[in-house]
Amino acid sequence: MKRLWIAPLLVVLAALFLLSPSAMSDDAALSLNLRSRVKSQGKDVHDVVDKKAAVDPKKTALIVCDMWDDHWCKSAARRVGELTGPINDVVKTARARGVFIIHAPSSVTAFYKDRPQRRKAQQAPFAAAPMPLSTSERWGTAWAWPDGKREGVLPIDDSDMGCDCAIKCKIREAWTRQTPGIEIADGDAITDNGQETWNLLAQRGIDHVMICGVHLNMCVLGRPFGIRQMVKLGKNVVLLRDLTDTMYNPERPPGVTHFDGTDLVVEHVEKFWCPTCTSSDITAKTPFRFKDDPRAKAK
Ligand SMILES: [Zn+2]
Repeated sequence: MKRLWIAPLLVVLAALFLLSPSAMSDDAALSLNLRSRVKSQGKDVHDVVDKKAAVDPKKTALIVCDMWDDHWCKSAARRVGELTGPINDVVKTARARGVFIIHAPSSVTAFYKDRPQRRKAQQAPFAAAPMPLSTSERWGTAWAWPDGKREGVLPIDDSDMGCDCAIKCKIREAWTRQTPGIEIADGDAITDNGQETWNLLAQRGIDHVMICGVHLNMCVLGRPFGIRQMVKLGKNVVLLRDLTDTMYNPERPPGVTHFDGTDLVVEHVEKFWCPTCTSSDITAKTPFRFKDDPRAKAK
Protein backbone atom coordinates (compact mmCIF):
# COMPACT_ATOMS: atom_id res chain seq x y z
CA MET A 1 0.00 0.00 0.00
CA LYS A 2 2.83 2.38 0.79
CA ARG A 3 3.94 2.37 -2.88
CA LEU A 4 0.80 4.25 -3.89
CA TRP A 5 2.48 7.36 -2.51
CA ILE A 6 5.26 7.18 -5.07
CA ALA A 7 3.27 8.13 -8.18
CA PRO A 8 1.84 11.44 -6.86
CA LEU A 9 5.23 12.26 -5.35
CA LEU A 10 6.90 11.83 -8.74
CA VAL A 11 4.27 14.07 -10.36
CA VAL A 12 4.93 16.78 -7.75
CA LEU A 13 8.71 16.50 -8.22
CA ALA A 14 8.37 16.69 -12.02
CA ALA A 15 6.15 19.78 -11.74
CA LEU A 16 8.63 21.44 -9.37
CA PHE A 17 11.46 20.77 -11.82
CA LEU A 18 9.53 22.17 -14.80
CA LEU A 19 8.62 25.31 -12.87
CA SER A 20 12.07 25.84 -11.40
CA PRO A 21 13.90 29.03 -12.47
CA SER A 22 16.68 27.06 -14.19
CA ALA A 23 14.19 25.29 -16.44
CA MET A 24 12.25 28.48 -17.15
CA SER A 25 14.88 31.12 -17.80
CA ASP A 26 17.65 30.67 -20.38
CA ASP A 27 16.02 28.08 -22.54
CA ALA A 28 12.57 29.63 -22.68
CA ALA A 29 11.50 30.13 -26.29
CA LEU A 30 11.02 33.64 -27.61
CA SER A 31 7.32 34.13 -28.19
CA LEU A 32 6.93 36.28 -31.30
CA ASN A 33 3.70 37.79 -32.62
CA LEU A 34 4.45 37.72 -36.33
CA ARG A 35 2.57 39.88 -38.83
CA SER A 36 2.55 39.12 -42.56
CA ARG A 37 0.40 40.23 -45.48
CA VAL A 38 -0.84 37.48 -47.73
CA LYS A 39 -2.60 37.74 -51.07
CA SER A 40 -5.19 35.03 -51.55
CA GLN A 41 -5.72 33.65 -55.02
CA GLY A 42 -7.92 35.79 -57.21
CA LYS A 43 -7.85 38.75 -54.80
CA ASP A 44 -6.20 42.12 -55.34
CA VAL A 45 -5.56 42.92 -51.70
CA HIS A 46 -3.19 41.51 -49.13
CA ASP A 47 -4.82 40.41 -45.88
CA VAL A 48 -3.03 40.84 -42.57
CA VAL A 49 -2.15 37.44 -41.12
CA ASP A 50 -1.09 37.29 -37.46
CA LYS A 51 0.73 34.22 -36.24
CA LYS A 52 2.42 33.30 -32.97
CA ALA A 53 5.81 31.66 -33.19
CA ALA A 54 7.95 30.08 -30.47
CA VAL A 55 11.59 30.52 -31.45
CA ASP A 56 14.65 28.97 -29.82
CA PRO A 57 16.87 31.90 -28.77
CA LYS A 58 19.97 29.71 -29.20
CA LYS A 59 19.10 29.37 -32.89
CA THR A 60 18.45 33.09 -33.32
CA ALA A 61 20.58 36.07 -34.26
CA LEU A 62 19.69 39.74 -33.91
CA ILE A 63 21.38 41.95 -36.51
CA VAL A 64 21.73 45.68 -35.83
CA CYS A 65 21.93 47.45 -39.21
CA ASP A 66 23.81 50.70 -39.78
CA MET A 67 23.15 52.38 -36.43
CA TRP A 68 25.99 54.81 -37.07
CA ASP A 69 27.34 57.60 -34.87
CA ASP A 70 26.16 60.32 -37.28
CA HIS A 71 24.31 60.78 -40.59
CA TRP A 72 24.53 63.37 -43.38
CA CYS A 73 20.82 64.07 -42.91
CA LYS A 74 20.16 65.89 -39.64
CA SER A 75 16.62 64.49 -39.24
CA ALA A 76 17.85 60.95 -39.89
CA ALA A 77 20.64 61.44 -37.33
CA ARG A 78 18.15 62.74 -34.75
CA ARG A 79 15.87 59.73 -35.24
CA VAL A 80 18.84 57.32 -34.94
CA GLY A 81 19.53 59.07 -31.63
CA GLU A 82 15.97 58.30 -30.52
CA LEU A 83 16.24 54.66 -31.64
CA THR A 84 19.55 54.04 -29.87
CA GLY A 85 18.25 53.49 -26.31
CA PRO A 86 15.36 51.23 -27.34
CA ILE A 87 17.66 49.19 -29.64
CA ASN A 88 20.20 48.83 -26.83
CA ASP A 89 17.35 47.59 -24.58
CA VAL A 90 16.26 44.96 -27.06
CA VAL A 91 19.89 43.92 -27.69
CA LYS A 92 20.53 43.55 -23.94
CA THR A 93 17.37 41.54 -23.30
CA ALA A 94 17.82 39.32 -26.37
CA ARG A 95 21.47 38.67 -25.46
CA ALA A 96 20.51 37.72 -21.88
CA ARG A 97 18.04 35.20 -23.30
CA GLY A 98 20.72 33.56 -25.46
CA VAL A 99 20.28 35.36 -28.80
CA PHE A 100 23.50 35.96 -30.78
CA ILE A 101 24.03 39.67 -31.48
CA ILE A 102 25.65 40.87 -34.73
CA HIS A 103 26.52 44.57 -34.93
CA ALA A 104 26.60 45.61 -38.58
CA PRO A 105 27.79 49.20 -38.97
CA SER A 106 28.37 49.07 -42.74
CA SER A 107 31.55 50.49 -44.27
CA VAL A 108 33.05 51.42 -40.88
CA THR A 109 33.92 47.98 -39.44
CA ALA A 110 37.62 48.95 -39.77
CA PHE A 111 37.03 51.11 -36.69
CA TYR A 112 36.75 47.80 -34.79
CA LYS A 113 39.68 46.01 -36.45
CA ASP A 114 41.42 45.18 -33.17
CA ARG A 115 38.32 44.18 -31.24
CA PRO A 116 37.81 40.46 -30.53
CA GLN A 117 34.18 40.79 -31.70
CA ARG A 118 35.42 41.88 -35.14
CA ARG A 119 38.06 39.12 -35.28
CA LYS A 120 35.44 36.56 -34.27
CA ALA A 121 33.56 37.37 -37.50
CA GLN A 122 36.72 37.27 -39.64
CA GLN A 123 37.88 33.99 -38.10
CA ALA A 124 34.60 32.05 -38.22
CA PRO A 125 35.23 28.97 -40.38
CA PHE A 126 34.18 29.27 -44.01
CA ALA A 127 30.79 27.76 -44.75
CA ALA A 128 29.50 27.48 -48.32
CA ALA A 129 26.27 29.41 -48.85
CA PRO A 130 23.46 27.56 -50.68
CA MET A 131 23.55 30.17 -53.47
CA PRO A 132 26.11 32.67 -54.71
CA LEU A 133 26.14 35.78 -52.54
CA SER A 134 25.61 39.09 -54.31
CA THR A 135 28.88 40.56 -55.51
CA SER A 136 27.71 43.85 -56.99
CA GLU A 137 28.46 46.73 -54.67
CA ARG A 138 26.73 49.82 -53.35
CA TRP A 139 27.79 52.16 -50.57
CA GLY A 140 30.80 50.13 -49.47
CA THR A 141 29.37 46.59 -49.26
CA ALA A 142 27.86 43.97 -51.55
CA TRP A 143 24.23 44.72 -52.30
CA ALA A 144 21.05 42.71 -52.78
CA TRP A 145 19.17 44.81 -55.33
CA PRO A 146 15.37 44.99 -55.49
CA ASP A 147 13.84 41.91 -57.06
CA GLY A 148 11.25 43.38 -59.44
CA LYS A 149 9.55 40.04 -60.10
CA ARG A 150 9.05 39.39 -56.42
CA GLU A 151 8.40 42.84 -54.99
CA GLY A 152 7.64 45.24 -57.84
CA VAL A 153 8.82 48.71 -56.83
CA LEU A 154 9.07 50.25 -53.36
CA PRO A 155 5.94 52.15 -52.26
CA ILE A 156 7.94 55.35 -51.62
CA ASP A 157 10.11 57.39 -53.98
CA ASP A 158 13.55 57.73 -52.38
CA SER A 159 15.36 58.77 -55.56
CA ASP A 160 16.25 62.10 -53.90
CA MET A 161 17.92 60.06 -51.07
CA GLY A 162 15.10 60.94 -48.70
CA CYS A 163 16.24 63.95 -46.64
CA ASP A 164 13.04 65.27 -45.04
CA CYS A 165 14.56 68.41 -43.48
CA ALA A 166 13.14 71.87 -44.31
CA ILE A 167 16.59 72.92 -45.52
CA LYS A 168 17.98 70.00 -47.50
CA CYS A 169 21.12 68.38 -46.10
CA LYS A 170 24.22 67.88 -48.21
CA ILE A 171 25.37 64.30 -48.67
CA ARG A 172 28.75 63.82 -46.99
CA GLU A 173 30.74 61.05 -45.32
CA ALA A 174 29.27 61.42 -41.88
CA TRP A 175 29.74 58.14 -40.05
CA THR A 176 32.85 56.63 -38.46
CA ARG A 177 31.54 53.81 -36.21
CA GLN A 178 28.38 52.37 -34.61
CA THR A 179 26.77 54.72 -32.12
CA PRO A 180 28.45 54.15 -28.74
CA GLY A 181 24.96 54.00 -27.18
CA ILE A 182 24.60 50.39 -28.31
CA GLU A 183 26.77 48.19 -26.12
CA ILE A 184 28.97 45.58 -27.82
CA ALA A 185 29.43 42.68 -25.38
CA ASP A 186 32.00 39.87 -25.34
CA GLY A 187 29.76 37.26 -26.98
CA ASP A 188 28.70 39.55 -29.85
CA ALA A 189 30.22 39.85 -33.33
CA ILE A 190 30.86 42.80 -35.66
CA THR A 191 30.60 42.47 -39.45
CA ASP A 192 29.11 44.11 -42.53
CA ASN A 193 30.13 41.24 -44.81
CA GLY A 194 27.72 38.68 -46.28
CA GLN A 195 30.10 35.70 -46.20
CA GLU A 196 31.24 36.46 -42.65
CA THR A 197 27.60 36.73 -41.56
CA TRP A 198 26.83 33.39 -43.21
CA ASN A 199 29.88 31.78 -41.54
CA LEU A 200 28.88 33.07 -38.08
CA LEU A 201 25.31 31.78 -38.48
CA ALA A 202 26.48 28.39 -39.81
CA GLN A 203 28.98 27.99 -36.95
CA ARG A 204 26.16 28.41 -34.42
CA GLY A 205 23.40 26.51 -36.26
CA ILE A 206 21.30 29.68 -36.42
CA ASP A 207 18.12 29.52 -38.56
CA HIS A 208 16.30 32.61 -37.29
CA VAL A 209 17.41 36.16 -38.01
CA MET A 210 15.81 39.19 -36.41
CA ILE A 211 16.86 42.56 -37.82
CA CYS A 212 16.50 46.15 -36.63
CA GLY A 213 18.14 49.49 -37.45
CA VAL A 214 18.18 51.83 -40.44
CA HIS A 215 17.20 52.58 -43.16
CA LEU A 216 14.50 50.13 -44.11
CA ASN A 217 14.03 51.19 -47.75
CA MET A 218 17.78 51.03 -48.37
CA CYS A 219 20.25 49.15 -46.14
CA VAL A 220 17.96 46.99 -43.99
CA LEU A 221 16.63 45.45 -47.22
CA GLY A 222 19.74 45.64 -49.40
CA ARG A 223 22.89 45.02 -47.34
CA PRO A 224 24.55 41.58 -47.66
CA PHE A 225 23.31 40.73 -44.12
CA GLY A 226 19.93 42.39 -44.81
CA ILE A 227 16.42 41.12 -45.41
CA ARG A 228 16.62 40.26 -49.13
CA GLN A 229 19.88 38.30 -48.86
CA MET A 230 18.92 36.47 -45.64
CA VAL A 231 15.48 35.48 -46.98
CA LYS A 232 17.04 34.23 -50.23
CA LEU A 233 19.54 32.19 -48.21
CA GLY A 234 16.62 30.45 -46.51
CA LYS A 235 16.75 32.01 -43.06
CA ASN A 236 13.54 32.68 -41.12
CA VAL A 237 13.77 36.46 -41.05
CA VAL A 238 11.78 38.83 -38.83
CA LEU A 239 11.92 42.63 -38.96
CA LEU A 240 11.48 44.50 -35.66
CA ARG A 241 9.11 47.00 -37.25
CA ASP A 242 9.12 49.61 -34.49
CA LEU A 243 12.93 49.78 -34.36
CA THR A 244 13.56 51.03 -37.88
CA ASP A 245 13.23 54.21 -39.96
CA THR A 246 13.34 55.17 -43.63
CA MET A 247 15.01 57.82 -45.75
CA TYR A 248 11.81 59.34 -47.12
CA ASN A 249 10.99 62.93 -47.99
CA PRO A 250 7.22 63.59 -47.87
CA GLU A 251 7.58 65.99 -50.82
CA ARG A 252 8.11 62.90 -52.99
CA PRO A 253 5.48 60.32 -54.00
CA PRO A 254 3.25 59.09 -52.54
CA GLY A 255 3.22 62.40 -50.57
CA VAL A 256 2.41 60.95 -47.14
CA THR A 257 4.09 61.86 -43.83
CA HIS A 258 7.60 60.55 -43.19
CA PHE A 259 6.20 58.07 -40.63
CA ASP A 260 3.40 56.86 -42.93
CA GLY A 261 6.14 56.37 -45.53
CA THR A 262 8.01 54.10 -43.12
CA ASP A 263 4.82 52.14 -42.42
CA LEU A 264 4.33 51.66 -46.18
CA VAL A 265 7.78 50.09 -46.46
CA VAL A 266 7.06 47.89 -43.42
CA GLU A 267 3.90 46.73 -45.24
CA HIS A 268 5.98 46.11 -48.36
CA VAL A 269 8.32 43.87 -46.35
CA GLU A 270 5.35 42.00 -44.84
CA LYS A 271 3.88 41.44 -48.30
CA PHE A 272 6.97 40.35 -50.20
CA TRP A 273 9.81 39.38 -47.87
CA CYS A 274 9.26 38.38 -44.26
CA PRO A 275 7.01 38.84 -41.23
CA THR A 276 7.51 41.58 -38.65
CA CYS A 277 7.01 41.86 -34.91
CA THR A 278 7.61 44.65 -32.41
CA SER A 279 10.32 44.94 -29.79
CA SER A 280 7.61 44.30 -27.16
CA ASP A 281 7.92 40.59 -27.93
CA ILE A 282 11.48 40.74 -26.55
CA THR A 283 11.38 43.52 -23.94
CA ALA A 284 7.72 43.40 -22.82
CA LYS A 285 7.79 47.22 -23.06
CA THR A 286 5.49 49.41 -25.19
CA PRO A 287 6.55 49.47 -28.88
CA PHE A 288 8.81 52.38 -29.78
CA ARG A 289 7.37 55.51 -31.48
CA PHE A 290 9.33 58.55 -32.67
CA LYS A 291 8.70 61.82 -30.79
CA ASP A 292 7.70 63.68 -33.95
CA ASP A 293 5.31 60.96 -35.08
CA PRO A 294 1.99 62.88 -35.08
CA ARG A 295 0.18 59.59 -34.65
CA ALA A 296 2.03 58.71 -31.46
CA LYS A 297 -0.57 60.33 -29.21
CA ALA A 298 -3.52 58.79 -30.99
CA LYS A 299 -2.70 55.36 -29.62
ZN1 LIG B 1 18.15 66.18 -43.83
